[in-house]
Amino acid sequence: MPGRASQLRRRLRARPHDQRRLQENHLEPCEFPGCDERREVNSFSKLCRLHKTRHQLTGSAWHKPLPQSALKSARSLARDFVEAHSDHKGLQAALRLLGIMFVSPRSYFQDVRVIVAVETARNKHAHDLQHVLERLLAVYVIRHLKPAAITDDDGLTFEVYRATLPGQNRNPVKVREAVGPFIIEALGLLLTRAARRACHEQQQQPNPSTRRSRNVF
Ligand SMILES: [Zn+2]
Repeated sequence: MPGRASQLRRRLRARPHDQRRLQENHLEPCEFPGCDERREVNSFSKLCRLHKTRHQLTGSAWHKPLPQSALKSARSLARDFVEAHSDHKGLQAALRLLGIMFVSPRSYFQDVRVIVAVETARNKHAHDLQHVLERLLAVYVIRHLKPAAITDDDGLTFEVYRATLPGQNRNPVKVREAVGPFIIEALGLLLTRAARRACHEQQQQPNPSTRRSRNVF
């Protein structure tokens, strides 16, 4: 936010005692439990740089974005599952909902920033709905296998947002907080159950050719 930063600089020139308060703040420890770092330089944040950045990106100082390597391997399990269950009514309904959301985001969102972000993602990445569903399911597969990887609701909101609208360099809070909860409310239960089932099937039948014959979850 360069606008905000330059405003801050102007204010600091006018009020030199703020400079002292900033320095004092920097000498304080980060408020994140167990973190020994000092608070961010030139900021009144109560967090160190890492935790502040994490909070700004994901909405939670606790949540560390899931690494691409974990998402990639969970996605391959999710892909197998979605392909094996392509005729499942729940998955078909999920694809329909995603289709409406991308074609006509105004059906679900009011904020123009959210609508533009969804339209941009659709135009830029020529969205394949099945890929979106696979990415979403991959997040829930990780959540099922390793619950600690997604620490809280904000962390889940961030991961769901990122899976739905990938490749966005900017991460406007409004978009994250609209798209994430919308998907979680509409598809969270289905994705939770599908993830559980996908993991179960993989354990039961590690051979992909036999896995495809199962059709219920
Ligand atoms: Zn910290």
